[in-house]
Amino acid sequence: MTKALITGITGQDGAYLSQLLLEHGYEVFGVIRRSASSDIIGERLRWLGVLDHINLVDGNLTDLSSLIRILQDVNPDEIYNLGAQSFVKSSWNQPLLTGVVTGLGVSNMLEAMRFCCPHARFYQASSSEMFGLIQEPMQTERTPFYPRSPYAVAKLYAHWMTVNYRESFGMHCSNGILFNHESPLRGIEFVTRRVTDGAARIKLGLATKLQLGNLDAKRDWGHARDYVRAMWLMLQQEKPSDYVVATGRTVSVRDMCRIAFAHVGLDMNDFVTVDASLMRPAEVDVLLGDSSKAKEKLGWEPTISLEEMIAEMVEADLARHRSRLK
Ligand code: NDP
Ligand code: GDP
Repeated sequence: MTKALITGITGQDGAYLSQLLLEHGYEVFGVIRRSASSDIIGERLRWLGVLDHINLVDGNLTDLSSLIRILQDVNPDEIYNLGAQSFVKSSWNQPLLTGVVTGLGVSNMLEAMRFCCPHARFYQASSSEMFGLIQEPMQTERTPFYPRSPYAVAKLYAHWMTVNYRESFGMHCSNGILFNHESPLRGIEFVTRRVTDGAARIKLGLATKLQLGNLDAKRDWGHARDYVRAMWLMLQQEKPSDYVVATGRTVSVRDMCRIAFAHVGLDMNDFVTVDASLMRPAEVDVLLGDSSKAKEKLGWEPTISLEEMIAEMVEADLARHRSRLK
């Protein structure tokens, strides 16, 4: 049985990736950090019905000794490093923690891997946020980076460390430069979930308005289920490399919001207001990815449209709120 270790298994991508790897017959191990909320920490894994089929191990990306112990115990064939302080807005409030977890945490994992299991294959969750103030209208693996937040700076460090371990030690290390991807399991603080949850609440009479920040920002949004498939494909290649994973379509927050409200028969203009406190100190105005390399080398293409994804998310939020009303 192939063994995979996932950090960030309790997050959105960790849940979908666990499901995919189990379908492929893997033995799945996931790193969880100790929490006072341990009863709800596996909520996403439970939602997908995979919690009882994976092995959870106790550790933290900031604790090198815990990573060494885990790698010695598990001896994985593949490592997916998805753990991070992943919310851009929080990274201005907690820049040092973001650097320690999202940046240095990757060095901890790479070092642990170099000592314990140098032949394992490694996936690093790089981010389109590294393009920041975009230097080309469509971003590829060759587009220069210009990070615009402590989160993006930390991800850039992690990205280059991953490249350096590949080139210095011949390790099988790949970066997936993933553009925004969402699902019903997306964290509630991200804009798509705020919008689908807000539209669901308003539809059910639980709220009367939704406050958002910059409605003009544009993102290339895909579905997490499609994107975890790209992660897995990267580690099935004979040679490690870096890949952009994106849909090739960019849509404004305003238009994404319009789609969500229209799904429940409402006009967003009647409910959405702008709250200046939700604006960011520096904004990434637009992202648009060119995933030609992933298509050519991995045979990867997105299969779920933005409209289908938003509809699925609104329906899931309606169902969550209806079950609480019962
Ligand atoms: P989430 O925020 O949903 O999940 C983050 C995960 O990291 C959680 O499991 C969290 O655990 C874990 N984590 C946080 N701090 C630590 C730590 N110190 N040690 C170990 N684990 C930790 O993120 P997503 O699933 O959306 O994203 C997965 C990865 O992909 C992240 O690295 C993210 O930055 C990156 N990415 C995501 C994109 C997206 O659009 N979703 C786009 C590009 C990159 P806990 O549950 O305990 O908080
Ligand atoms: P990000 O691309 O990783 O920062 O993902 P987010 O979903 O957090 O934000 C995407 C874009 O939506 C950014 O340009 C935000 O400024 C914008 N945005 C507008 N209103 C909101 C809001 O209420 N919450 C969040 N999270 N983002 C918002």
